[in-house]
Amino acid sequence: CGIVGYLGTKNAAEVIVDGLSKLEYRGYDSAGIAVCSEGGLEIRKFKGRLAVLAEDIEKNEMKGNLGIGHTRWATHGEPSDTNSHPHFNKDKTIAVVHNGIIENYMELKEELMADGVEFLSQTDTEVIPHLVDKYYEGNLLDAVYKTVERLRGAYALGVVCKDAPDELVAVRKDSPLIAGIGEGENFVASDIPALLKYTRKVYFLENGEVVHIKGTDLKIYDAERNPVEKEIFDVTWDV
Ligand code: GLU
Repeated sequence: CGIVGYLGTKNAAEVIVDGLSKLEYRGYDSAGIAVCSEGGLEIRKFKGRLAVLAEDIEKNEMKGNLGIGHTRWATHGEPSDTNSHPHFNKDKTIAVVHNGIIENYMELKEELMADGVEFLSQTDTEVIPHLVDKYYEGNLLDAVYKTVERLRGAYALGVVCKDAPDELVAVRKDSPLIAGIGEGENFVASDIPALLKYTRKVYFLENGEVVHIKGTDLKIYDAERNPVEKEIFDVTWDV
């Protein structure tokens, strides 16, 4: 179970698959990725080894400089292509990766189903893209704040939206997440090894903190949405 997110000038899919391969030690049963580009939002996800995803991308390239990727350790819903992350909303405009467990997903699912939302997976995670969709009014950061207010449980989330092709929002509570600062590129990941090839400058995120990457800018806010000034941690070791 790992997350990698990227926004920069490189091919996002390449950076993300490479980063996820460094998180394989955490264990997983499926892997998936969403890449956002001028062409829209593309999602690919498969049960099985990361190599299954990597081979698919090799056969048919995913172009774009913004993306999120995930290795899943199933907690709700068997390992399958459909239950793999990223999960998405009805119009496939919003993609979400999640590590952790949403404890109140049943009541959220009932609420969303009453709104007419159809669920494709058996996961607890799928409520999240539908909530972001429900709250999205042109500002992805707003929508993610409104969404996490509704969630109970443990989560590290990465969120991208087709209508915000230069933004990535990530947040954590009781699941690990770090942010990485590069030259004209920024990252989020579950752990340092995923990023070492690209940067040694990282931020460790506290519970409730939200990372907003927009263009070449990375900002961190607390749960009350105050900007947080954090010290950059310089990683001096190698894997
Ligand atoms: N609870 C989610 C699921 O079963 C996320 C699991 C994970 O952390 O990989 O899909």
